[in-house]
Amino acid sequence: MSVTEQTRPAASKPRHQQMLIDGAWVDAASGATLTVDNPGRRTPVATIPRGGAEDVNRAVAAAQKAFPAWSRTPPRQRGRLLLRIAEALEARIEEMARTIAEETGNAIRTQARGEATLTADIFRYFGGLGGELKGETIPLGENVLSYTRREPLGVVGAIIPWNAPVLLGALKIAPALCAGNTLVLKAAEDAPLGVLLMAQVCQEFLPPGVVNVITGLGTECGGPLAQHPAIMKLSFTGSTEVGKVIMRAAAERIVPVSLELGGKSPSIVYPDADEDWVVDGVIAAMRFTRQSQSCTAGSRLFLHQDIFDSFLDKLTRKTQALKLGDPLDEATDIGSIINEKQFRKVCNYVEEGLHRKDARLVFGGLPPKEGPLAQGYFAMPTVFADTSNDWRLAREEIFGPVLVAIPWKNEDDAIRMANDSHYGLAAYVWTHEIGSGLRAAHAIESGWVQVNQGLGQQPGHSYGGYKQSGIGREFSLEGMLDSFTQRKNVTVNLTVPSRA
Ligand code: ADP
Repeated sequence: MSVTEQTRPAASKPRHQQMLIDGAWVDAASGATLTVDNPGRRTPVATIPRGGAEDVNRAVAAAQKAFPAWSRTPPRQRGRLLLRIAEALEARIEEMARTIAEETGNAIRTQARGEATLTADIFRYFGGLGGELKGETIPLGENVLSYTRREPLGVVGAIIPWNAPVLLGALKIAPALCAGNTLVLKAAEDAPLGVLLMAQVCQEFLPPGVVNVITGLGTECGGPLAQHPAIMKLSFTGSTEVGKVIMRAAAERIVPVSLELGGKSPSIVYPDADEDWVVDGVIAAMRFTRQSQSCTAGSRLFLHQDIFDSFLDKLTRKTQALKLGDPLDEATDIGSIINEKQFRKVCNYVEEGLHRKDARLVFGGLPPKEGPLAQGYFAMPTVFADTSNDWRLAREEIFGPVLVAIPWKNEDDAIRMANDSHYGLAAYVWTHEIGSGLRAAHAIESGWVQVNQGLGQQPGHSYGGYKQSGIGREFSLEGMLDSFTQRKNVTVNLTVPSRA
């Protein structure tokens, strides 16, 4: 593993960034603030408002006030505004990429720039869908006109995490607005700056109150938003644990909820796929260059026993060639973990693996305590080879670069182990045999299976989880229709006697 030099500028005073309520940039009603750090350097970047219930109330009231006019704006006109936002975001990709890299620790070249680019693309995709909010007619006979309308739900409450904050924020804002809803979005406390920059761009084109972005802690700010009586829909991306809290809040008021939660996704390699391109694909699927802080990380590697050692040798060689270091350095492949809590959590898993007798460390291990990497929350890509699918490291979502390699003999066993998880988000299958690939794809209990590739989501493809990985779909037209509209049926009797 090579290390990029830390090109460390003199620490500047953290800037203060306000939040967006009713078209105005404001502080928390309490005046309290939180600090956002650069996790690659462990230095403060900015202070933000520490929002609470009073701020949530103000933001929801603004969204309620904006709803009647926005929902009556013709859908394609709403779409046109989203297209203008897309264009404005495209013009600011570099600024956005730097902001994301600085606050998340995601490397600018391998991650942050791609996230900024895809975010603009998400606005462009949903901006074109205004005309698709169509209803149906129901054939009840010549004397009846029965039809459906896709109507918005009202004020959406959205809560997002820090791992791909701007992209995940765009996936709430763009479809919710296209469908005619207004929105209060709570950014993650660790990575709100890119989301606030996106809000600034949105605000140049939208009426006040259509989008409100608030900042604060989970229970203090996200909690009151989830429980607010005027919120008509909850859309959450984050951990399965908090997803359950959000779903309970939705149940109290019978409001629809969509949840994009965790994963422990399998990557199954068949014996004919012991090849370099598969190793590259497995590295991409494991999201090593995102420090594996991704719900779709293919973190359980099921290797056929005949290729177990030779595949791991190739994986070792290729992963070791990746550069770990300062997220803002263009030479860096792998950046830093988001914060100290996550960093400790990842280290604890690695330590458990190191102490387990039947687990073999293939490469990686605990991070160095000295040198350039000790200046940030850098975790080493780590692989444990073990015979079992049932220890903690093979079952729990680590959200860090720790991969578990497990051998298999026959396909049924591989699929049984792949499905032996309470998660079901993504999966990856690697083989030249199209029959094996598709049999596995059909048998795996996951919302998204990729055969022979380990890419990220693209606009247009319905993405979401099976089992405890979530409810609902994002990224697509169907996702927008299901998550952000409600159907109304209108039935008209055409045989009313005419007035004399
Ligand atoms: P992660 O582990 O990725 O940070 P979390 O599920 O803890 O994921 O957090 C995702 C988002 O949910 C963040 O914006 C966080 O502030 C928010 N959050 C955390 N706890 C709660 C809660 N009890 N109620 C509402 N929002 C919460």
